[in-house]
Amino acid sequence: MNKADYKGIMVFAEQRDGVVQNVAFELISKARELADSINEQVTAVLLGEGIKGLANDLIAYGADKVLVADCPELKDYITEPYAQAIYHLITERKPEIVLVGATTIGRDLGPRLSARLVCGLTADCTSLEIGEDRNLQMTRPAFGGNLMATIVSKEHRPQMSTVRPGVMRMAAKDTNRKGEVEEVTIPFDKSKFAVKLVKKEIEAKNKVDITEANVLISGGRGVGSKDGFEKLEALALCMDAEVSSSRAMVDAGLIGHERQVGQTGKTVRPDIYMACGISGAIQHLAGMEDSDYIIAINKDKYAPIFQVADLGLVGDLHKILPLLTAKIQKAQA
Ligand code: FAD
Repeated sequence: MNKADYKGIMVFAEQRDGVVQNVAFELISKARELADSINEQVTAVLLGEGIKGLANDLIAYGADKVLVADCPELKDYITEPYAQAIYHLITERKPEIVLVGATTIGRDLGPRLSARLVCGLTADCTSLEIGEDRNLQMTRPAFGGNLMATIVSKEHRPQMSTVRPGVMRMAAKDTNRKGEVEEVTIPFDKSKFAVKLVKKEIEAKNKVDITEANVLISGGRGVGSKDGFEKLEALALCMDAEVSSSRAMVDAGLIGHERQVGQTGKTVRPDIYMACGISGAIQHLAGMEDSDYIIAINKDKYAPIFQVADLGLVGDLHKILPLLTAKIQKAQA
């Protein structure tokens, strides 16, 4: 492998049912920033069937080129055809950096590709920078989130990393941006297609996406019980907010994992994040500290959450939340 042969940044533009996932736009935005600093191009890879029309959006967020593989083999995500398609494009185009969203699909695809390419992978990066030696500095939490490790792949190409949704900021969409759309054909080895999609069943449960909420009322162990969460729900209802939580309450079975904020939950960046009875462990902060305005309610004035809070209320949440809800309801009446 000659490192000098590898140029530019490739982003896997994940789409599901014809909808490009936000993480793809976030990664293209970041890739644009990185590529500009080394004078290189950003190439998005769009796979699926009947998805050509999505390419222009990827250009609007910063891609110079979109490689589109539009064929029945890629209609739904199945590991092998997707891995073959991207592997083919990476070995043919030789990008020096490959970025993949750390979604359920990306977490399946990324390691498979890195094993085939023998290039390594840094998963769940929280920061990506180009170093002075032009290597990609991939930073991620290590040792249970107590340390941030910056990992560099000096010997291998491409340098590959996954980034969770919501971690990188999406650039403003510029529909005047110009780029190239290239349709590509993948030489599939169908003898390796061992998995067939027989049926898709979408879970009927109406799952919320807390990463989309403008206001989050988040509860931790201090909330105590299901009754405690009802106080958060009442406040959320009058503030047009969603309820989220720390891992402690997910582990206690009081709220679903889809509402967990933090290193092993979701990364959120709402306009207002209200942390109620959350101590502010580093693994929790990793998922919410970039929120625009943080309000913390905690009865311990030394709780670490106050170090990231814009407004801190020292007191019992079980008293403060009903008072706040009543006040807002009165103002709205
Ligand atoms: P605690 O730390 O127990 O804090 C409860 C707080 O409530 C205290 O500060 C207390 O003063 C306050 N309180 C109690 N009663 C009241 C009251 N009546 N009114 C006001 N305040 C009150 N955690 C996450 O949240 N998200 C993650 O994604 C995550 N990932 C992890 C990954 C790893 C590898 C590890 C090791 C840990 C992870 N954790 C995560 C767990 C994390 O370390 C903490 O244990 C967890 O965040 C603590 O949750 P908490 O703040 O709700 O509870």
